[in-house]
Amino acid sequence: MSGSGAGRRIPLKCSHTRSRMSIDEKASKTLKDLGIKTPEAIGELFAQVAAALDDERQALIARGATGESERGRLAKELRDRWLARKGGLVSLIDAHWLKKAPKDLKPAAGRAFNELRQRAKSVDTESLLQDLSHQGAGTEQGDLAFTAATPVGPARLAAEAGVSAKPGAGGSVKPGPDLTLPGFRRTLGSVHPVTQVMREIEDIFLGLGFSIESGPEIESVYYNFDALNIPESHPARDDWDTLYVNAETVLRTHTSPVQIRAMEKHGAPLYILCPGKAYRRDNPDSTHATMFHQVEGLAVDKDITFADLKGTLDYFARKFFGDKIKTNFSPSFFPFTEPSGELAISCVFCGGEGCRVCKESGWVEVMGCGMVHPEVLRHGGIDPERYSGWAFGLGVERFAMMKYDINDIQLFQQSDVRFLEQFG
Ligand SMILES: [Zn+2]
Repeated sequence: MSGSGAGRRIPLKCSHTRSRMSIDEKASKTLKDLGIKTPEAIGELFAQVAAALDDERQALIARGATGESERGRLAKELRDRWLARKGGLVSLIDAHWLKKAPKDLKPAAGRAFNELRQRAKSVDTESLLQDLSHQGAGTEQGDLAFTAATPVGPARLAAEAGVSAKPGAGGSVKPGPDLTLPGFRRTLGSVHPVTQVMREIEDIFLGLGFSIESGPEIESVYYNFDALNIPESHPARDDWDTLYVNAETVLRTHTSPVQIRAMEKHGAPLYILCPGKAYRRDNPDSTHATMFHQVEGLAVDKDITFADLKGTLDYFARKFFGDKIKTNFSPSFFPFTEPSGELAISCVFCGGEGCRVCKESGWVEVMGCGMVHPEVLRHGGIDPERYSGWAFGLGVERFAMMKYDINDIQLFQQSDVRFLEQFG
């Protein structure tokens, strides 16, 4: 079946199934009062509101106005009904539905509300006046006040379509598409959740005076391993988890080589953040991907101690996960830091009481860190007798999974719009 009349759609009156209660009545009740318990039900409820908004706008435009003052009054009435700060439907919905939404429905309600708020801009006075000004008896001088030199809205559409946009203006008018209907909205994409989280992390450290560094993803074995004090005998050198391009070249297994490159380029003191992609020869599962994102941080200066590391990462963790979380440092081992540590935060899901995510421990490890190994500073051309430094590395997907309670890392790479549009 081929569609008829490409580019020309016949406006249909939507036959929404509505419950008896009016939007006004519903807006004065809470989601609980309305028996809304699922994100799907929230979607339906907001769809009813959006339909009511569009209907009322259409009804006003179809009705038209007979003069400048009536036009102004009608537009203001509809605008106030929806957008008035006090008692407007949008603000009532904000107060009764969104603010009082139970915790588990907050995200869905928030998203739906933001869409509604966007949509409600179509009834702001200016936009309404533009459409109204081309309706009804549009012959008076007052029209000039509402018509820009370059035709906008329906007038422009009408000009393009070669028909009159003033159906009531003069005698017989050919029936055609209703040019006063709002246009079809082009769906916009949104920033990927991994990028969002990466930017959030970057912002926190930029605020602390760090700068951003980047480097090649196809990296030499020297920068990826040797310069970072990872000897040939280290398990990470085994080709089981490194993707080799050839004997001397790898897809970088971490963003750490950027630290060496930055030390060589800028010397000390140095405060940098290295966000980017890393690659491992892992079998994909819910927590492993062959490509993932890391953010590493490096601070090199005189008299840098472990206290600087702790203070900075504690500040960062609170800023990212919220003031209530606690941090805990425990000893660990990495070839490029000495001493090395793991930073754990109190579980964001159970508040430290113990749950599935934290395996009942109340703590979740979020990143490795430590004081930069003197050998690594030396490889970067920095004298370890004069300077010391600390560094950390974290997995961005893991942070995003914790922040948004996502249980499968694969979701980030499947490009499923149903998943991605939740982060718009
Ligand atoms: Zn927990």
